[in-house]
Amino acid sequence: MAEKMLQFTHLTQKTPEKRSISERAADFDEIYKKFDVQSAKAQSSRCSQCGIPFCSIHCPLSNNIPDWLKLTAEGRLEEAYEISSATNTFPEICGRICPQDRLCEGNCVIEKGFESVTIGAVERYVTDTAFEKGWVKPITCLRELTFSVGIIGAGPAGLAAAEALRRQGYQVTVYDRHDRVGGLLIYGIPGFKLEKDIVIRRAKWLSDGGVTFELNTDIGGKIPFSELRAKHDAVLIATGVYKPREIGGPGAGLPGIVPALDYLITSNRQGLGDSVPDFDSGLLNAQGKKVVVIGGGDTAMDCVRTAVRQGAETVTCLYRRDRANMPGSLREVGNAEDEGVVFDWLAAPEAFLGDDKVTAVRATRMHLGLPDASGRQSVDVIAGSSFNVEADLVIKALGFDPEDMPLAFGEKDLKVTRWGTLKTDPRSFMTNLPGVFAAGDIVRGASLVVWAIRDGRDAAAQINEYIQVSQGFAQAAE
Ligand code: FAD
Ligand code: SF4
Ligand code: SF4
Repeated sequence: MAEKMLQFTHLTQKTPEKRSISERAADFDEIYKKFDVQSAKAQSSRCSQCGIPFCSIHCPLSNNIPDWLKLTAEGRLEEAYEISSATNTFPEICGRICPQDRLCEGNCVIEKGFESVTIGAVERYVTDTAFEKGWVKPITCLRELTFSVGIIGAGPAGLAAAEALRRQGYQVTVYDRHDRVGGLLIYGIPGFKLEKDIVIRRAKWLSDGGVTFELNTDIGGKIPFSELRAKHDAVLIATGVYKPREIGGPGAGLPGIVPALDYLITSNRQGLGDSVPDFDSGLLNAQGKKVVVIGGGDTAMDCVRTAVRQGAETVTCLYRRDRANMPGSLREVGNAEDEGVVFDWLAAPEAFLGDDKVTAVRATRMHLGLPDASGRQSVDVIAGSSFNVEADLVIKALGFDPEDMPLAFGEKDLKVTRWGTLKTDPRSFMTNLPGVFAAGDIVRGASLVVWAIRDGRDAAAQINEYIQVSQGFAQAAE
């Protein structure tokens, strides 16, 4: 049925419909509607079935994209789901929140001239349909093994590893200091990009498949790391990076200047129905306020759009580079602009004004200079260009660093890189401590969900091999 494909010459690209701006800015539900079956088929049929699919090459999971697009175009959705879920533990999540414009879709060959195939939207459609139709099977293993693996962190890296290890028959316990499963999927990324039911559904799927969760359990605090090592045959550290990068300058400590993740976690908790005193008191609530967000990454985009939904009076994003050089997804910038966010490009804060709380940010204009050794243009201050932006809530979204892991885990021998991320052997995923592996942001630094999934899956394969060898374990190899 190959004639169904290659339709890009006469079928234009159509992304799923967005809810109207006034409707979506009033709640935290996802902004994109789901494809209907005809649109999913038609959009899939635009694929030119490349012999060397650059889309797959630029997907961190090497997803077999042309194959599931063809199956979708032919209406063979269950098979499309089988193929897409073979390489991706959470395709419906990646379909929603991968920055496709920088990954698969940005490298689709028909992008030049015809606009890319809407790969992410089809991936989401196929898996959502699979859930609706009951095609998503429970996690099963051929036999139960007595060996156990402890995973620290219930974010995408830890969860992807948990699924893969459970399928091999391991007894898997995932520990998390939070009270819910998902890491940044549940408490970082807002519902308008990823509705929380989607994450909760996957947490249940893992739990039903035999993964044990021990929540409200801070490893290094409530339970010593050494105790975990003694309890399990292998340990995976997938704790992410959470130490916010700070801002300096006069007035930086004024009340009303808050870290991005505190703000987003509060908003997500409130949306999940928790009673959050800092939201109720107004400390971490943008309602009626003039909000300034500092930063240009995904976190900053999530903060500005959360503030819009909380009913902020104005929302301004200050970023020291220009639009073309911002790290956040351009699609999300467009969505934020549509929702009324003002972007002040090439502007950086130099001081925070106010007596007993912040009332304004004094910013200065920047210009982009010559590229440095990494190829990134320097940013230089334009002298005498200061200006004030009124603010009664300032949200700092300048990125995250790892906490001091040897200190947090009481393991002074645990080796870290000069950036504080855990040092692992890139092939075995093992740290310098025997039987202790690491994956996700705590190894890469702040990255993407799709990379965390990839790392979790790869680390699980290495843990399996390690246990087989170190425990003289024959069963798994049979
Ligand atoms: P995390 O998701 O951070 O999970 C780590 C888990 O470990 C957490 O649950 C934490 O509670 C737990 N933990 C930490 N220390 C301990 C301890 N000592 N004991 C027990 N548990 C512990 N990526 C995208 O691809 N698309 C996006 O749109 C996107 N938006 C983002 C928006 C925001 C606001 C942020 C902050 C990040 C965003 N990212 C996005 C990045 C993405 O969320 C991360 O790269 C990804 O979640 C990393 O996965 P992880 O499993 O390594 O860590
Ligand atoms: Fe694209 Fe992400 Fe899906 Fe890969 S996982 S195909 S990068 S949306
Ligand atoms: Fe299809 Fe684009 Fe991938 Fe080529 S690069 S196989 S056209 S999705």
